Amino acid sequence: MTERHTPRVVPLVDQRSAALHSPAAAFDSGTRIAATGLLTDQRARPLRDLRISVTDRCNFRCSYCMPKEVFDKDHLYLPHSALLSFEEITSIAKAFVAHGVQKIRLTGGEPLLRKNIESLIAQLATLRTPEGQALDLTLTTNGSLLARKASALKAAGLQRVTVSLDGLDDAVFRSMNDVDFPVAEVLAGIEAAREAGLGPIKVNMVVKRGTNESQILPMARHFRGSGIVLRFIEYMDVGASNGWRMDDVLPSREIIQRIHAELPLVQLDPSQPGETAERWGYANAAGKHDKALGEIGVISSVTQAFCGDCNRARLSTEGQLYLCLFASQGYDLRTLVRDPVRQADLESAVAHIWQGRKDNYSESRSALSDDGAPAQRRVEMSYIGG
Ligand code: SAM
Ligand code: SF4
Ligand code: SF4
Repeated sequence: MTERHTPRVVPLVDQRSAALHSPAAAFDSGTRIAATGLLTDQRARPLRDLRISVTDRCNFRCSYCMPKEVFDKDHLYLPHSALLSFEEITSIAKAFVAHGVQKIRLTGGEPLLRKNIESLIAQLATLRTPEGQALDLTLTTNGSLLARKASALKAAGLQRVTVSLDGLDDAVFRSMNDVDFPVAEVLAGIEAAREAGLGPIKVNMVVKRGTNESQILPMARHFRGSGIVLRFIEYMDVGASNGWRMDDVLPSREIIQRIHAELPLVQLDPSQPGETAERWGYANAAGKHDKALGEIGVISSVTQAFCGDCNRARLSTEGQLYLCLFASQGYDLRTLVRDPVRQADLESAVAHIWQGRKDNYSESRSALSDDGAPAQRRVEMSYIGG
């Protein structure tokens, strides 16, 4: 079944540049903190993963993220001067890497819309962890520009990509992206990424009950044995514009049951701490994982909280640091990075901010966000990235 849009007007509360925590206050309140790569927050969670949104624009209008009714022709996107430059992003990323970040994911909006993104990738690819290791450098994309860009991204130093794809049926897919974009072009993008060596490739499918659930099995069949890991994501109550309702969420448990009934699965151990996806491998006749058939993942952000291991920070397009996907306030790092004198405080500011972190929204999901603000004040996914 494809999605039918009921016209609705959702007031978008603009969180950009509003009500920011001052990192200067966080920094001034304490002493300089040396970067040891061992930083932890109030719940003893390390800092390992930085997601950087490089644009708030997108050429798709997925109803769960940037619904057309809200992100219409009158929507005001950030002016170019508000965006962090590639040099500013790299300086901030460097401070995070000094404190333990090992993985950087570029996101958006649609990150491949940012002009010369390859140049940012090349700069980030030069960063090294305190142990001298290169970063796990990746990017999440809707795949629409991937066929054109895959080899340039690889040449710039990108290691792998995650492609979002919400169905294989062309009509369902066009309705999900809501701009009539054909599925064949995204599939061609995935193929180009594979040929360019941007693997292991992951494909993310957000499942909305009654909208694209018919695509679960076709997607599983298509990617089984392909070397590509398909991950099903529960539709989340992120942002304020998608009109989220619990009834629209198809729990991961049900997804696993449906696939298992046709294509038997066995649960696999997590490959690393803090992993968001639960892993399931396709089984052989003996009921053991058949590596040639590969695996799938489920990300149960709604039905099974994984805040206890959350080691992710998010940097918005204009340089605000968010400690949780559901936070309503960010920390203004742009002011620091644009000030030649205070730039040296970046590392300590990051340390003070992370050390004070308590966020665990998914564990305490309710009408209020984690800092007690009404849910509708939450920041949009297209602004801080997924
Ligand atoms: N435009 C790129 C893309 O779609 O891959 C990158 C940005 S997008 C915000 C990152 C990821 O967030 C995508 O995989 C998307 O499906 C997911 N996402 C957006 N809104 C969501 C929601 N309400 N619930 C679950 N996932 C969501
Ligand atoms: Fe764009 Fe990605 Fe959001 Fe879809 S999920 S509207 S592709 S940013
Ligand atoms: Fe991390 Fe916040 Fe998601 Fe919990 S709700 S897993 S703290 S981003």
